[in-house]
Amino acid sequence: MTFAQSFYAKLSALFLLLILGLGVILATLGVQAAGRYADEVEQKLNRTLAQDLAPQFQPLTRDSIHHAALRAQIRDLTGINRRIEIYLLGGEGRIKAAFAEPGEALARAAVDTGPIRRFLEGGDLPILGDDPLHPNQQKPFSVAPITISGQSGCYLYIILGSEQYASMARMVGDSYIIRTALIGLGLILLVTAGVGLVLFRRLTQRLRSMLGVVAAFEQGHFSKRMEPGSNDEVGQLARCFNRMADTLGDTMDELRQADRMRRDLVANVSHDLRSPLASIQGYLETLLMKDDALDADERQRYLRTALKNAQRLSNLVRQLFELSKLDAQQVEPHREPFPMAELAQDIVMQYRPQAEAKDITLRADLPEQLASVYADIGLMERVLSNLIDNAVHYTPSGGHVNVSLTRHDGRVRARVRDTGPGIPADDLPHIFERFYRVEKSRDQNRGGAGLGLAIAQKIVVLHGSTLTVESTMGQGTAFAFELPVDPPEDVAR
Ligand code: ADP
Repeated sequence: MTFAQSFYAKLSALFLLLILGLGVILATLGVQAAGRYADEVEQKLNRTLAQDLAPQFQPLTRDSIHHAALRAQIRDLTGINRRIEIYLLGGEGRIKAAFAEPGEALARAAVDTGPIRRFLEGGDLPILGDDPLHPNQQKPFSVAPITISGQSGCYLYIILGSEQYASMARMVGDSYIIRTALIGLGLILLVTAGVGLVLFRRLTQRLRSMLGVVAAFEQGHFSKRMEPGSNDEVGQLARCFNRMADTLGDTMDELRQADRMRRDLVANVSHDLRSPLASIQGYLETLLMKDDALDADERQRYLRTALKNAQRLSNLVRQLFELSKLDAQQVEPHREPFPMAELAQDIVMQYRPQAEAKDITLRADLPEQLASVYADIGLMERVLSNLIDNAVHYTPSGGHVNVSLTRHDGRVRARVRDTGPGIPADDLPHIFERFYRVEKSRDQNRGGAGLGLAIAQKIVVLHGSTLTVESTMGQGTAFAFELPVDPPEDVAR
């Protein structure tokens, strides 16, 4: 970008042009006003001049115009005041005699009587009348009625100021005050132009530095931010940009994380699918090849192991499907009021055989009079099952698993507590992440794929709550979440 193309150059050129135009207009108006003021002063000072002179001139014009005598008298007068021209006018403004500077030819035969009448009627001064020496000029005058050659209603018409301020340039040249005022005006405009250019420079400087940040941003330096400075529009623009850059940064972080998660997902899914599949394949191949050599018990054992792996596979696919539906926000909870205590009781009953087989005491603490909750019953069953399944699975023999429902400020709090091994503090913040397992070996015989808690958390969040966890190593773990009761008026109680 060249200097001429820059915003600063354009702004400055426009500003200087405006200042110049303003200067010309102000100077013209000022000089014109000064001229008009001079006319006004001249006319006010000499308002009665014609009236004062009329009695002296009357004897020399009444019967006929005594040119020589008049000229002599006027010469005496102009000796005192050189700047006047005297005319004798007929009633219609026709010039009957002119006593102007010698050698000056008359440019008009008559003058307009309108200004004369306004003057005689006492109109506001200045009133400019036609100058008989110049066709297009108007000048201040003094006038009085006089009788000429026996004809009354004629005028003694005196042009004041004569040639002195005939042109603006001459007036400027002659008047010290106007010159000083014009120089003052010039200085003021010069200072204004200087200050304006400095201010524009500062303003465009800020825009230039903003441009630098945007250009750096364009090149991929996403950490660059603008200096907002003051809180004007430019500052607000800078703040706005910074906020936008932050949002963009966050979005990019999220995208990066989503990409990482996608890659992890593909890696985890392929691993978790491959192991049971390989196992099923292995057992089936063995069955095929060694069919004759195997006894009935062994064959049964092989088939059961293959079936277990097939179930694990189908479980994993089902969980993945559930999670992807939750991720795509395809799951719309069908909320309805239902008795949470009954649901919890049913699920506890389902897991009781499994718990008894492991010698675990599975207890349900469910108050008799518990209000209904407002939630999706199918999804809630999934959450409770996942939590109880984990508790029973991870708790060693002789341990306890306790499912409780309590009422808190218009909400029902569900809690699944066990006396299992606990979860290390380092792992706690991650256990709701998909595929996250405390036991990293991903040994399929110990726990699932690490999707159960991710699914449970998604469902609870969908219901406007969060699944929380508390765990102490060697003592046990407790998961809890809350649901609104139905009807919601209960909240107020
Ligand atoms: P998984 O299918 O492996 O159980 P989850 O998402 O349900 O996956 O759980 C994630 C991890 O959290 C598990 O691998 C396990 O290490 C840990 N975990 C979950 N529940 C418990 C619990 N009640 N006690 C101890 N560890 C648990």
